[in-house]
Amino acid sequence: MTPPAFTCSMAVSASGHSLLALLLDAHPQLTHPGDTILSAHLFESANCACGKRHAECEFWARMTTWEGYVYLRDHLRRGPLKTLYSLPVLFPLQRAGLVVHPGLRRYARTLLAYPERVQELTGAQAVIYGRKRLADLLLPLATRATVRILHFTKHPIAQAISFSRRKARAGQTPADFAREWRFYNRRVLQAARLGPDTGYLHIRYEDLCLRPEETLTAVCAFLGVAFHPDMLRPGAQRPSHVIGARSLVGAPGQPFPGIRPPDLSFADLPSAEQEIVWRIAGGLAAGLGYPRAY
Ligand SMILES: [Zn+2]
Repeated sequence: MTPPAFTCSMAVSASGHSLLALLLDAHPQLTHPGDTILSAHLFESANCACGKRHAECEFWARMTTWEGYVYLRDHLRRGPLKTLYSLPVLFPLQRAGLVVHPGLRRYARTLLAYPERVQELTGAQAVIYGRKRLADLLLPLATRATVRILHFTKHPIAQAISFSRRKARAGQTPADFAREWRFYNRRVLQAARLGPDTGYLHIRYEDLCLRPEETLTAVCAFLGVAFHPDMLRPGAQRPSHVIGARSLVGAPGQPFPGIRPPDLSFADLPSAEQEIVWRIAGGLAAGLGYPRAY
């Protein structure tokens, strides 16, 4: 029997990935636990979409007491191995690394077991892994597992605006944001070409917000399920245990705020800075179907 494919969603942080997770997780046959294994979990400060704190949620209590969860959380967090496994051009070296390094093999095995563990708890037909790290995509590819990639992007100028609102990024410039966008998304595209059987679907945040049913129908077809109307009403039919952005997975008892239209005006970034972002990221963005302006 062929093992199930490892399905992951890949996105730069602050790109609307939590919205994608909530909408997919609302499907009765899918589980997307959001940005899993956040460092925030270490301090138990995250909220769960079920309305409880992460530390008080039964689903996450069962996940975090699984030794595999702790292993994934605590290993490959930084250092040369993490760097090695974030560069698709080093794929031959990554495959060799797996042969000689038992710790890497254990990490990869645990990563591939993660969806099974979630499946045991939720009964879902498919689980989407959402930690978004390049290492967590390249390691399964290096084991020759069948991988399916949901590549999720936000327009680079909108992405720069989202980044600029984050306190943690106060020292960075729009050029830094554009380079990060280009670095990450180029590597996801390169990774998608590494395995002959790798499934790949690109989704734009803007399309998800403007045409949610049409966009989710395409995602469902990719995942082998039919679109279900519950996807447009996360949390309405069954509790969700998505961990993610506080704007969507907010304080306990706060309902899903709905799918809001994206800001396509980019008015929050001066046009000179928009130009800088587009000069750096525009080539790749155009290839992903983005116009310079709407
Ligand atoms: Zn929960």
